[in-house]
Amino acid sequence: MKVELIAACGINCGICSMYLSYLNGLRQAKGRIRHCEGCNIVGGKCTRCKTGNINKIEFCYQCEYFPCDMLKRLEKRYKNSYARQESPIDNLKYIKKHGMKKFLAKERKEWKCNKCGDVICVHNGKCYYCEKVIHWKKG
Ligand SMILES: [Zn+2]
Repeated sequence: MKVELIAACGINCGICSMYLSYLNGLRQAKGRIRHCEGCNIVGGKCTRCKTGNINKIEFCYQCEYFPCDMLKRLEKRYKNSYARQESPIDNLKYIKKHGMKKFLAKERKEWKCNKCGDVICVHNGKCYYCEKVIHWKKG
């Protein structure tokens, strides 16, 4: 878990399937497995921001439109569509309140594979290191 991997929207790229594929050297097969080195590294800043403030801020909670429609849509997707619920907005609030160091420590603990100690993916509940798939309980 690294600070460079925390995107402006509060998403931790370190638990993203695209980043974990890249990190673990999974081959790209017919566009199925996509690779990404993390939002901050690839785009510099978020490319989805519609408020025009992205270059003035570090994280979305610093924006006057927080939480904007884009962030609300992202929040909905992360709460409903993936193997495990995750809240970008709660992440941002946590960072604002407790600071990045504590947030990273929390993330490390929260997404640790209990078999090998590597990282569990938010999108599919899988540990790319030992291939263990965790079936999360909803709620
Ligand atoms: Zn593992």
